[in-house]
Order: sequence, then C-alpha cells, then structure tokens
Amino acid sequence: MTHQPPEVCCSDEHDPRSLTADEARRRIVEAVGPVTGRERLALRSALDRVLAEPVRSRIDVPGHDNSAMDGYALHSRELESGGRVSLRVVGTSWAGRPYTGRIGSGECIRIFTGAVLPPDADTVVVQERVERKGDIIHFDATDQKKAQNVRYAGEDIRAGQTVLEPGRRLTPADLGLLASVGVGEVTVRRCPRVAFFSTGDELRGVGEPLEPGEIYDSNRYTLHGMLTRLGVETLDMGVIRDEPEAVHRAFREAAEIADVVMTSGGVSVGEADYVKDALEALGEVTFWKVAIKPGRPLAFGRLGGAWFFGLPGNPVSVMVTFYLFAQPALRRMMGETPREPLRMRVRCTSRLRKRPGRMEFQRGVLEPAADGAWTVRSTGAQGSGILTSMSEADCLIVLPLESSGVEAGEVVEVIPFCDLV
Ligand code: AMP
Ligand code: MG
Repeated sequence: MTHQPPEVCCSDEHDPRSLTADEARRRIVEAVGPVTGRERLALRSALDRVLAEPVRSRIDVPGHDNSAMDGYALHSRELESGGRVSLRVVGTSWAGRPYTGRIGSGECIRIFTGAVLPPDADTVVVQERVERKGDIIHFDATDQKKAQNVRYAGEDIRAGQTVLEPGRRLTPADLGLLASVGVGEVTVRRCPRVAFFSTGDELRGVGEPLEPGEIYDSNRYTLHGMLTRLGVETLDMGVIRDEPEAVHRAFREAAEIADVVMTSGGVSVGEADYVKDALEALGEVTFWKVAIKPGRPLAFGRLGGAWFFGLPGNPVSVMVTFYLFAQPALRRMMGETPREPLRMRVRCTSRLRKRPGRMEFQRGVLEPAADGAWTVRSTGAQGSGILTSMSEADCLIVLPLESSGVEAGEVVEVIPFCDLV
C-alpha cells in the first residue's frame, strides 16, 4: 500500500472565506464572453472549431425515395393476393443510375441499396427472400409488408431545415452531416490565444541538468496538452523566475499578445506577494480560496486587455483547476454553447479517505465488474504532487464537500476524462 501522510490540521479543511467550486466556476464563466472575430474554413479544417452561424440545408436528405436493401422493387398491390407471387423483372435501378421506365402489373425491377425507387414502386422485397429463374422471380408474399425497406426523401433532413446551430463544436459526424447537405465551408469563431508560463526558481526545462532542490517543469507540458486538445492557439512563454521584475515584465508582455494569460505556481499563501504586486499594478485580479482538493488557491481577473488565470503550482492541482475553471471559461470564449461534462454514478471498489470541508476530486480508474456494470477504483495516493495518479486515471471521483469518505462498495460520482478533453 502507498503511504499517505496525514493532514496537518483538521481546521485546515474548513475556511469560511472559501468559495465553493460551483460558485467559483459560475463567477468565472459569467465574467468572460465569446471572442470577436470569425473565419471561413473549408470543412476538413473546421473539425473541433465552433460554429459562428447556423447552417441550413438547401436540399432534402435523402434527395429521393430509395431502397434500404438490395432486392426487387414492386408495387404493393402485387402482395395483395398473398401466397406465392411471380413477377417479371423489367429493368434495374442502380445507386446513382435510376430506372426510368415504367413498371406494369405483374412486373418488378432489380434494385440496389441507395438506388432511386421509381414512382411505380412503393415496396422492396429483399433478394434473400426471392428465387429467380431468368427474368422471373418467385417469393412468398405472406410475410412481406407494403412500404418495407424504403427510405423516404427528406426523412433525415428537410430542405430549409437548420442542421447545426451556432455554438456547436464540430464533431466528425458534423463534418459528414455538413457534407451530406452539400456545405463545403463554414463560418467559425476565431480561436482565443492563450499565453502560459510557469513560475518558480526551482524549475528547469527538460534536457537541462538538475541542481540539488531543482525539479523539471511539468506544468507547461500538461497545460500545452490540455490547451491544444481544447483547440485554442497556444503561446508557450517558458519559465519565469521568482523575481518581481521578471514576473512584472512577463505579465505585461503576455497580456499584450494574448486573450488569456495563464500561469501555474506562485499563487499559494506566502508565495503570492510579488505575483500579487505585479497583478495589482497591471490589472484587477482576485485571489480566491476555493473549497476543493486538490487546487485550493486560484487567481482570476483582468490583466490589461486579457483574462488572467493564476492556477496553483502542484502538478495535479494545475490539471484539476484547469478542467474545473479554465476550460469552461475558454469554451465560452470560443463561443461554445455551455454544457455540463458527463457525470456517472458508479460503484467504488476502493475505500476513499476524506475529511469534510472541501469538495475532492480524487483520481480513479473505471473498470467493468463481473456483472457487466462499471465500477471505479482509486489510483492510490492522492497527493497533489503525484502526477502518476493523473496519468493512470481515466476519471475524477467527485466527493462532495460534506463527505467524510467512502467505504468500498458505495456509489460515487465520476467525471470521465474522455468528456473533459
Ligand atoms: P507554488 O504554488 O509555486 O508554491 O508551487 C507549489 C508546488 O508545485 C511546489 O512544490 C512547486 O515546486 C510545484 N510546482 C510549481 N510549478 C511547477 C511546474 N511548472 N512543474 C512542476 N511542479 C511545479
Ligand atoms: Mg512557486
């Protein structure tokens, strides 16, 4: 078992000046608005971008009544006699090459999936049910039904219908849908530009040797990954030393070129002074204590013309606060229609330790149980510096503020990562 150090002090958990996670998120998301600026993009380039205008279809999809199966198209009156039916095959309708002749009484045509159903036919009998000898087919009409195996014009989309609304982040299905109505270009919102940097004298870049007490800067890599997945434009500004001048300069430069400035580290109590001074001089930023674990300290506000997010320094905290607070705000800046991330209630197979007072986001792994139901297990040690817990996890286990832990077998709420990124 992994050793987990005890909490320093119980009263540490409860701070009446803290904001709840929901309140902090609400304030942040309500403060920001969509960026101005749009661009016109070819369909393939628009994947994961957010629509700025509705898209209407000018055509019916499908464009014609057509066959859903390979078989024979006929008029349903041929079925009325019941029993064994024999019909003469008078032509073929291929997908993309319709049959243009007539179909008389006692006749049918060969038809393939997606081929236009001629006006004289309303029913398709699948080929597996048919015995063919030369130009004549025979089948049993008893279990054949009028209008079967037909797809109707406009049954998916009607001409004039809005197929996608503004605020929609385009998925692979959406690209196909737009192509199916003949739309090759869309108007999307400009991507917000996010400048981000790490703060701390102890940080070194990968590839550099480590002196005693130094660590590698991992937050810039997790931030790069999360921001890139979200589809914003990223500006990696490197590591800023814990020096008032350097911090001031970095904040000023970043705010000039970006819509959002994001930092990690330097916002915890005792650390924040020079960061606070620089932020006070350049903008209006509030330092918050949010009643969550990990990631209690958080700074948010204006920095010149940009929005500022001061995320905590611990590697797990930076990721959790990004997903909880920065990502919904960035989605809103991208113009996306707000929606709650997917949450599920599953049985927890681990015992989870927790003290009341903060909402916790523990790391979990989803697994199917023998009965087929999904369960979640803890990744083990939950320290905010244990980045392996985040790497191993595929979900966050959300434990409410007042919870005092979970016994194995209890039901918990999880947020799967697949919907966060
Ligand atoms: P701070 O909020 O600056 O006091 O940082 C809290 C903890 O996170 C400290 O242990 C830092 O060394 C660590 N930390 C801060 N920034 C980073 C970073 N970019 N990469 C890895 N660890 C960091
Ligand atoms: Mg620091």
